[in-house]
Amino acid sequence: MNHPYFEYNDVDRRFFEERLEPWLPERLFDAHRHVQLPEHLDESQPAYERGAFPAGIAGPESVEMARLGYAIMFPGRNVEMLAFGSPQSNVRAEANNAWVSSQFEGTLSCGLALNRPDWEPETLLRELRRPAIIGAKPYERLIADFEGGDASVFDLMPHHQLEVLDELGAWLTLHLPRKERLADRNNLLEIAELRARYPNVVLVIAHLGRSYAGRYAREGFPALAEDPGILFDNSAVLNPAVHALALDRFGPERIMWASDQPIFYMRGRRRWEGDRYINLTSGDYAWNTDRQPPEIEATYTLSLYEAMAACADTIFALGYGAAEVEAVFHGNARAKIAEVLARKEAW
Ligand SMILES: [Zn+2]
Repeated sequence: MNHPYFEYNDVDRRFFEERLEPWLPERLFDAHRHVQLPEHLDESQPAYERGAFPAGIAGPESVEMARLGYAIMFPGRNVEMLAFGSPQSNVRAEANNAWVSSQFEGTLSCGLALNRPDWEPETLLRELRRPAIIGAKPYERLIADFEGGDASVFDLMPHHQLEVLDELGAWLTLHLPRKERLADRNNLLEIAELRARYPNVVLVIAHLGRSYAGRYAREGFPALAEDPGILFDNSAVLNPAVHALALDRFGPERIMWASDQPIFYMRGRRRWEGDRYINLTSGDYAWNTDRQPPEIEATYTLSLYEAMAACADTIFALGYGAAEVEAVFHGNARAKIAEVLARKEAW
């Protein structure tokens, strides 16, 4: 069966055999990815479009398609996931959450609920009580009438909802706002405030704090290193230097592998110039202006493969071994989720 968003080819097969197969654990846990059906978007509402977002790579992906993608990319591996809807401003959040819950009930995968910041505590609580839902995934685009610009962490994840998460000991995967990301002091102060006021929340900072380019990691990681209760997913990070800084500052026990699929079915590599990253890809996307000669583009593999190889190569280059690889690619997420699921019995 074919997957709608990528065509697996010989370059991928060879990359897998040479760069991933030798170390890839038998079980993988993807701690951040999106699943959705087309009907979960309200097409009668205009969607806020993020300027820098690499659009046109993939549309909504069902859980069935997600599992097919894993089966094609990771032959012989058992892959489970922590997944949630795609947070477009026009998403039907409750419908998306209900469907995620129904897909994962009785499986080893779990979901997070998309939440709108203007929801009453009772509404969030209802979403969290759905089977297999272990926490929340807020997003700045879900702020009513969001028009871009710098939001506060507490604009997208307000205190009255954090109180609910804290009381339950629920999971929160936080996509940091603000253009300057981890280099913005306000983000660091707000993370510290969140930790101090809501210590029972399982806080996971998405995309290593959106540190795709090195400076954000360099300037932001030291402030987060001292608190072992701050966890990270490393989705969408291809930069080996950022993986190295994260592993060194936080330790492998605080980092979870994640794919951010369906975006990283994209084929290509990244280059970094100052604070910018450039997606070098062979995809026929409107924003794709950094084209390379065809013989170079023919060597591109899936961006997700590149991200995973960068992470694992760095783990080994720093002198860690198979135990740390297993923890990052499976064990850390599995263990934390088990803790939340045990608490969920009482929700
Ligand atoms: Zn994401």
